[in-house]
Amino acid sequence: MEVFSVKFKTTEELPEPSPRLIDQVIGQDEAVKVVLSAVKNKRHVLLLGDPGVGKSMIVKAVGEILEEFDNFTPYTIIAKPNLKNPEKPIVELIDGEYKEDTKDEKISIPTQPPSLLTLFLIMIAFTVISSWLLRGLPESKMLATIAIVAIVGSLIAFVSIFLGVLGATKSSMPNAVNPVDLKPVILYECKKRPLVRASAYNVTKLLGDVKHCPLGGRPPLGTPPHKRIILGAIHEAHKGILYVDEIKTMPLEVQDYILTALQDKQLQISGRNPNSSGATVETNPIPCDFILIMSGNMDDVHNLRAPLLDRIDYKIVLKNKMDNTLENRDKLLQFIIQEIRNNNLNPMTYEACCEIVKLAQLLAGSRDKLTLRLRKLSNIIKMANDIAIGRDIEEIKNNVEGEEYKNIENNGKKVYITAEHVRKIIESGIYSMSKQVALEYLRNFKRYKHIVPNDEPKVGIIYGLAVLGEDGLGDVTKIITQIIDSKSPATHLLNISGDLAKHSITLASALSKKLVAEGKLPLPKKDIDLTSKEIYIQFSQSYSKIDGDSATAAACLSIISALLEIPLKQDFAITGSLDLSGNILAVGGINEKVNAAKEYGFKRVIIPEANMIDVIDTGGIEIIPVRTLDELIPLVFDLKK
Ligand code: ADP
Repeated sequence: MEVFSVKFKTTEELPEPSPRLIDQVIGQDEAVKVVLSAVKNKRHVLLLGDPGVGKSMIVKAVGEILEEFDNFTPYTIIAKPNLKNPEKPIVELIDGEYKEDTKDEKISIPTQPPSLLTLFLIMIAFTVISSWLLRGLPESKMLATIAIVAIVGSLIAFVSIFLGVLGATKSSMPNAVNPVDLKPVILYECKKRPLVRASAYNVTKLLGDVKHCPLGGRPPLGTPPHKRIILGAIHEAHKGILYVDEIKTMPLEVQDYILTALQDKQLQISGRNPNSSGATVETNPIPCDFILIMSGNMDDVHNLRAPLLDRIDYKIVLKNKMDNTLENRDKLLQFIIQEIRNNNLNPMTYEACCEIVKLAQLLAGSRDKLTLRLRKLSNIIKMANDIAIGRDIEEIKNNVEGEEYKNIENNGKKVYITAEHVRKIIESGIYSMSKQVALEYLRNFKRYKHIVPNDEPKVGIIYGLAVLGEDGLGDVTKIITQIIDSKSPATHLLNISGDLAKHSITLASALSKKLVAEGKLPLPKKDIDLTSKEIYIQFSQSYSKIDGDSATAAACLSIISALLEIPLKQDFAITGSLDLSGNILAVGGINEKVNAAKEYGFKRVIIPEANMIDVIDTGGIEIIPVRTLDELIPLVFDLKK
């Protein structure tokens, strides 16, 4: 099978990718089309999908070509003081650039006249002092002199207080008004159609705020409210796109504000911190007519309130896999070249590109598919490049930045990313936390697991297969069934976590009891009083987080073996779900499981036939596909004895 439609030795020989981001998105044609049309028609969009499938990339790509849609008039948002009500500054949106209006500076400065009480007190003081000084004079002269002194004194006091107020205004009185502070300020100049990105949890960034005016510090004491306004992303996105990611984290209160903004196309800003002096400030409603694009994982949608969800016109689910066709492998090659160019990496050999295709199959869980979780692939390519330029796994893990590694040339020799480099990264599991945890677990516990492949046949013992962690590392689980005579018949599940696993083993137990009771199995018959048997099923040393139904067939065989006391062969590991009619059903993670059976040294691995299409690499182990229990039983029981 040819992997790509072009022949090449290294990616250097291949044409440069398109510089336009919109041409670089692969595998999400439908989503790109819908987002483009939504933006053209001013509709709101919700993008749902796995992490790293290109949600942000699509929005960015559309943002890049926003200008191509229609004419855009640049605008400026300014804030002015409100002299009548300083706590309600005025925010205005003006077309084009803001030209400073000289009139603004001539606003008369209101000053506070000295209060009547102050004047009265000063008059009394002058009267008392002068009457004491003139106590020797005749009464009539004294009164006249006191009156004159009091009037002159008051006048002097009045003038000096008035001048004092002016002086104080220019210095640091908190409520005083500085003429410069009356100038409007530019909050935002928008020259091209905006695309503003904000995380859903960042309330201030999304909705705007009014800064606190502390004693000292920043902003300086006395900064008037209009200079403390911070615009929100919703305002900066006016006439453009607001992209909100991580919707899971969006507080309900913020959803309400966004809903209001969508409905009214304007929203005021007020201080968000109730303990701050900004809390008393509120602007007039500020225009915010934007296209809303939100994104998140599939499950996150539950966090969105129904009214907001209702306002979203297009809800698109992005794909996480594509078919493994020649055309799509070529697209994957295009992706590789893009990543190399966009991240300034070394070229890749043909074999390394094939290794990436194989990895894309593995991550998709099937030979037939290619993953579209491309961020993960991109990270692996970057790390393989690190290996190519001489860093080792530990350095990459600890994120050591080495100057010498930045050189693309190594001693004048061209460096290529080879298949070996890619494999090193895959095997190290360094690209995934969950894979590293699983590797660490296996490194520590494998030798304690008492797994003896290809041993003598044994009653009640079978080897099942599991996948540890989200990013898949296969493991073998020993399943043991013991039967005890008892007055209370019951099935006990030991070491089995997860509801799905528990239900599936209960099903296996019921089915095996039924089959044994009916005596229709292709096995020697035995009379058993099932009402006096207590069944114990143990997943020996199983990884605590396993959940799933892929051990149902194994558990069923283990119980039948224990009930009938017929030994099971030990040269195989098995995976497969089971329905009540005895059909073996497909399971996930087949390649990781086959690989684990191989690594533990089993001769055979039994898998559901429906999963055969998923197997990428059969090398080294016999794979036996099965469809039903009837087909399975003759393969696994040892009937010699
Ligand atoms: P998401 O927003 O879905 O989590 P991103 O758009 O942030 O994913 O994707 C992260 C990176 O992965 C992108 O910058 C790009 O390098 C790569 N990538 C993801 N999806 C695609 C895609 N569909 N086509 C090309 N590259 C992609």
